[in-house]
Amino acid sequence: MNIGIDCDDVVCDLGNAWILKYNQDYDDNLKKEDITQWDVSKFVKKECGKKVFGYFNDPTLYLNCLEMPNSLNCINILKEQGHNIFFISACMPKTMEAKYEWLINHKYIDSTKEFIAIYNKSLINVDILLDDKPETIENFPKKGVLFSQPWNQTYNLPRVNDWEEFIKFVKKYNDLLISQNQSLDTFAKWVR
Ligand SMILES: [Mg+2]
Repeated sequence: MNIGIDCDDVVCDLGNAWILKYNQDYDDNLKKEDITQWDVSKFVKKECGKKVFGYFNDPTLYLNCLEMPNSLNCINILKEQGHNIFFISACMPKTMEAKYEWLINHKYIDSTKEFIAIYNKSLINVDILLDDKPETIENFPKKGVLFSQPWNQTYNLPRVNDWEEFIKFVKKYNDLLISQNQSLDTFAKWVR
């Protein structure tokens, strides 16, 4: 199968990186768990407000971004199972290169062939898309899966809590598609 993977807060821990910088800049004690909605400006100090979105256009944040636990190992397992992995990320002009470099340096990808920068991910024809943004999963025409984060807990969508669960999800979905295709084959033979 072709599998699309979001970057920020799915493989790359951008959440903790921008929060660390914000806490230093505004002398605050914000934690990732405090952010229970997508609009992060609701959780920062008033003097920061909408300025918080500036952190998402700061390429230097990617210098200190950690990997999400077990993400690289699980992606390598999926590749070994024969799946094609594409990193699909909504990028600001300044962060596109930084994100790409991060994926290369952390050995998630080898070339630009595996990297797609796009805001409207519903235009990409992958079989499964894994993303932490509820709106992206809601609008995805094929199989969308939410990667659990504190800001997407209220959404009733297919979800996984960690990378191990995603491996299981892919297997289950792949098996389902195979059995559906087998049923269609049987049906086709029967109607002939
Ligand atoms: Mg994301």
